[in-house]
Amino acid sequence: MPADSEPLLDVRDLTVAYESERGMVTAVDRVSFTLRPGEILGLAGESGCGKSTIALALPRLLRSPAVITGGQVLFDGKDVLDLDDRAIRSVRWRDISLVFQNAMNALNPVLRLSSQITDVIRTHDKVSAGEARARAGELLDMVGIGRDRLSSYPHQLSGGMRQRAAIAIALALRPRLVVLDEPTTALDVVVQREILDELRLLQGRLGFAVLFVSHDLELLAEFTDRIAIMYAGRIVEWAPSLPLLDRAAHPYTRGLLAASPDLRGTRAATRQGLPGTPPDLADPPPGCRFAQRCEHATEVCRGTEPVLLPLPDAAPSHVAACHLYPQEVGAR
Ligand code: SF4
Repeated sequence: MPADSEPLLDVRDLTVAYESERGMVTAVDRVSFTLRPGEILGLAGESGCGKSTIALALPRLLRSPAVITGGQVLFDGKDVLDLDDRAIRSVRWRDISLVFQNAMNALNPVLRLSSQITDVIRTHDKVSAGEARARAGELLDMVGIGRDRLSSYPHQLSGGMRQRAAIAIALALRPRLVVLDEPTTALDVVVQREILDELRLLQGRLGFAVLFVSHDLELLAEFTDRIAIMYAGRIVEWAPSLPLLDRAAHPYTRGLLAASPDLRGTRAATRQGLPGTPPDLADPPPGCRFAQRCEHATEVCRGTEPVLLPLPDAAPSHVAACHLYPQEVGAR
């Protein structure tokens, strides 16, 4: 994948709010990022940071009380947020598909796998029932379930097989972008590893881009090309995956890493929890949103919101929003 290729996905200042009794709560606040064809981008952060809201916003699957209040989601240059209902239905599954954490949410419990996969195929492609069933069989083979399971209902499958079935449905129309929202969190580590290895092989073979949402930084570092770290609705750091783990700059990223198990044995042996809680997004504080939990916070941090800028002595693709580093471009 050439680093200078045109982005497949260009998210600009995406803002999503939830209507609540206390007014609008902005869960995703002016978030921007790009994803190139075939690239795998990780999106990490604690629960409630806005990462899953972004995953659902891309194919416009958010439901009330969530409202997209600003920004653009350019897919192949076309703003998904401007499409009418018919046009967005053709983008879903064909261009952008999703795998959720719990496959049971994606699978219909009263339909056989064959019906669920062929429905997706025949809704978008004019093919005969026989051809759709043959493709469904190929998809089940491809994700390691096997076509002999075409007549199974979801409850007849193990958790790992259900997740593989959800992946088969997500890949049915050969989408160019697959959004994985904590796809293996509910599974044991052995099954998780098998599924991720297989997804990696499929991604290499089919060439789709991936937005991989997870709270697990070590997992993301293994699977992704770049990682963006979100805190309280904003991206606070992003970098190529391994440099992010080895040279995390933002105190929040460092805190996340200190709280995670170290599978590569390159960090301090003792794990430390991240004290405090994220701010109330109905009334976010001025300045840096992490200031209440940050041991380095100063008056400047509490008064002025830092912006994402390249770090000194790092690759230009490593950026962070933190007053520990010069906040004027000219100062770098
Ligand atoms: Fe901490 Fe200040 Fe950086 Fe925020 S801007 S992470 S409070 S040092």
